[in-house]
Amino acid sequence: MSVTYQNDLKHPVFKVLAEYATVHQLDVYVIGGWVRDLLMGRPSKDIDILVVGDGPALASAVAAKLRVKKVSIFKNFGTAHFRYKDLDIEFVGARKESYLPNSRKPQTHQGSLEDDQHRRDFTINSMAISLRHETFGVLIDPFNGQKDLEAGLIRTPLEPSITFSDDPLRMLRAIRFATRFDFQITRPCLEAMKDQADRINILSQERITDELNKIIATHEPSRGFKLLQATGLLAHFFPELTALQGIETRDGKAHKDNFYHTLEVLDNLSRNSDHLWLRWAALLHDIAKPPTKRFDPQIGWTFHGHEELGAKMVPKIFKRLRLPLDQPMKYVQKLVRLHLRPIALVKGSVTDAAIRRLLHEAGDDIEDLMLLCNADITSKNEFKVKRYKQNFELVSEKLKMVEQKDRVRNFQPPVSGQLIMDTFQIGPCAAIGQIKSHIKDAILEGHIANDYQQAVEEMLRIAPTLGLKVQQAPPMPE
Ligand code: ATP
Ligand code: MG
Repeated sequence: MSVTYQNDLKHPVFKVLAEYATVHQLDVYVIGGWVRDLLMGRPSKDIDILVVGDGPALASAVAAKLRVKKVSIFKNFGTAHFRYKDLDIEFVGARKESYLPNSRKPQTHQGSLEDDQHRRDFTINSMAISLRHETFGVLIDPFNGQKDLEAGLIRTPLEPSITFSDDPLRMLRAIRFATRFDFQITRPCLEAMKDQADRINILSQERITDELNKIIATHEPSRGFKLLQATGLLAHFFPELTALQGIETRDGKAHKDNFYHTLEVLDNLSRNSDHLWLRWAALLHDIAKPPTKRFDPQIGWTFHGHEELGAKMVPKIFKRLRLPLDQPMKYVQKLVRLHLRPIALVKGSVTDAAIRRLLHEAGDDIEDLMLLCNADITSKNEFKVKRYKQNFELVSEKLKMVEQKDRVRNFQPPVSGQLIMDTFQIGPCAAIGQIKSHIKDAILEGHIANDYQQAVEEMLRIAPTLGLKVQQAPPMPE
């Protein structure tokens, strides 16, 4: 008999499934991602179970045997799901599908294992392993998924244009798997994706963004973005990013291609951080370069203010892409706005005051900002990169020193509004804000230390200029 995967099916879930399938004469398989990951030697916690028959009924029966109480049943889809320990187990009845042109939602009918494998997205995702006693552990691989897995190929089981037109999400999935596994998409599939790219417009933005985030989360996201660009998919949902592509030359002066630069920055960053929103900040850091691009005959190409305009573009992009508008959006916006600041320090002379200002504005995101800036140092000129990186280290060191000395990261003014009101016997008014911001500036500029006594002295010193008189001396430490 051919190779079987019996030894990989030792988990109690498979045992219970196999017993149940045998007693009830059911054809039951584990199929899709779990099988693919097993063959790739990548452990997986998502198990898809296929039964020729009623998926939810099988799920309920197996859950009862495993003493799992909560089973989610999706009647309309004929699927069911439960968690068992750290596993996510999904049950589905074998289906045959037919699609209508305007929808991702197919009409489904009961089908055989083979029908079901035909409707799967890629050959590497359509392999099944039998769980029935007589054939326990046998791989059923009608489209040579195993061979494609070894060759590193993403290929559709059916004619690609049909597969992609039926469900355009598969185009994004193709790119996601190609990126995640470092696989190639076969030429006919790529051609079909180019032809069918505009079908992506029938997808909901949430589905598109979900795939996009998965591509961004891979080890080398640039591969995915290059594919999105080459197939024409990116332009449909992210025109600001495609607008970054291209080089213009005037008077013999060329600017760099900001699309590829952005991707290089994203890859650089991804080598050092898995943080999804920091990766988004890398993707968007230069997003306003096209609308701020100018040519100055004296200095060449400039992109003045692209960090400010970029920060302004972030909410619109997040809204359209249905990304979270609360903390993540604000975080990305802040990093886009500040992304040039550490670099400016690297290029120029580094004063303590400039460092304090930066620390104050970045707050707890300073380390992330530094990661972004480090990733942003790209150039074809190795010497330049080396010099920048050395200066960058210097700025990092200095940041640490100033932070220890002055504690300005999450700056709390040492003088409170209440103290100002008590000292001058005034109610809430503009003068309070003026005093506070004056003290803050004095500390950040290094005129006084970040300390109560010096702050109070400074307050008393400038009070007369604001027309204020001391009515009650503020408490001073011994
Ligand atoms: P992941 O590791 O990301 O979970 P996966 O291959 O398991 O990858 P799922 O989205 O969990 O992907 O889907 C499970 C299986 O269902 C796939 O392996 C594939 O066989 C099938 N599948 C999922 N989405 C589609 C789709 N849009 N079209 C066809 N088949 C699909
Ligand atoms: Mg899965």
